[in-house]
Amino acid sequence: MDLRLSDSDEAFRAELRAWLTRALPELDSPPARDDWPARVRYDTDWQRRLFDAGYAGMSWPTEYGGRDASPTEQLLFLEETTQAQAPYVGVNFVGNLHAGPTLIAEGTDEQKAAHLPRILRGDEVWCQCFSEPGAGSDLAGLRARAVRDGDDYVVNGQKIWCSFGHVGEFGELLVRTDPDASKHRGISWLILAMDSAGIEVRPIETLLGSSEFSEVFFDEVRVPVVNRVGAENDGWRVTNVTLSFERGTAFVGEMVDARRLADELRPLVHDATDRHELGHVLAQLDALWALTMRNVTQASHGTPGPGALMFKLAYSEARDRLGELSMRVLGRDAFDVHDYRVEERLRTLSIPIAAGTSQIQRNIIGERLLGLPKEKSWE
Ligand SMILES: Cc1cc2nc3c(=O)[nH]c(=O)nc-3n(C[C@H](O)[C@H](O)[C@H](O)COP(=O)(O)OP(=O)(O)OC[C@H]3O[C@@H](n4cnc5c(N)ncnc54)[C@H](O)[C@@H]3O)c2cc1C
Repeated sequence: MDLRLSDSDEAFRAELRAWLTRALPELDSPPARDDWPARVRYDTDWQRRLFDAGYAGMSWPTEYGGRDASPTEQLLFLEETTQAQAPYVGVNFVGNLHAGPTLIAEGTDEQKAAHLPRILRGDEVWCQCFSEPGAGSDLAGLRARAVRDGDDYVVNGQKIWCSFGHVGEFGELLVRTDPDASKHRGISWLILAMDSAGIEVRPIETLLGSSEFSEVFFDEVRVPVVNRVGAENDGWRVTNVTLSFERGTAFVGEMVDARRLADELRPLVHDATDRHELGHVLAQLDALWALTMRNVTQASHGTPGPGALMFKLAYSEARDRLGELSMRVLGRDAFDVHDYRVEERLRTLSIPIAAGTSQIQRNIIGERLLGLPKEKSWE
């Protein structure tokens, strides 16, 4: 295998660099963390600029406004935009990173045409309504109920930890459509219009004092049957498609960012033990970059494979080590000079929980990949 960039890859990179050099100085400074209308405007404006320049949906089909780029171009795009400190997907990470890819893999032609171009143009923000108070790790134990009534499902129940639920216009919604089937068999995956009658969104404040999470309550909410993605009661399979994107490729931008943070730390580390630790983190990040290349390549032929599970677990650990190390190395300066690092450290505490905890990733890797005995069921 030839790992060098081809002439056309080099040309792509030069063209992208030139565009970023022109486009980034035109942006206003990023809005305050809790100014949600401004954040939505800022992030969707950047998305629109990417779209107009032909850089939105790097891996998505051209018929829906994507670029259908090669895996190498997708990775170059991530490297160059992160290096240039361009905005990332922001409030629409669900739309761009896993709802869109799920619709590409599983949606009907009508669903794709209705949503994919709008996501890429920055016209439509998505959120995810999967978790419930009693169904996080045990997601298949979800209870939100959908009962068929003519051409609609009528939904009742509650969701929690819905990131950007208060600004999302559409949601990935998991509901129980057959309460008598075994728990993995009675679930359906629906496209939810967040402005439907009967939905109440209540923000939850995080330890950082920000309010990007919400609880979402459903009281007789009607969702058209044509909004179902995949067959009725086949939603668990579709969910695994969503999760494979969420765990395998949605963290790629984070990963590139972690490499940058580790490089920034390099000149500040003098103690031999800390240098050893930084070397370890950098080696982990290099290995993860190799895994990322594999995952992005696999995703361009369908969905990321088992590498998605390995990536999420290993990335969570590497990011945790990097956060701990940066606090130790910076000490008091973390507050005085590098305060973004403190916020970064607190934020990254959530990474081993988001998209399935590290314990759950270990269970899945043990049971599904390595064929180890299943854990005891407590039901
Ligand atoms: C930053 C962030 C963003 C999120 N965004 C969304 C979102 O947009 N939409 C959404 O639906 N959800 C979202 N979530 C929720 C997330 O999916 C859940 O928090 C996660 O799946 C864990 O579920 P839980 O919080 O209910 O914890 P629990 O399932 O109650 O787990 C509690 C602890 O018990 C451990 N545990 C549970 N079962 C087992 C087991 N069988 N074996 C070993 N250990 C076990 C867990 O690992 C964990 O440490 C988000 C979470 C975070 C942190």
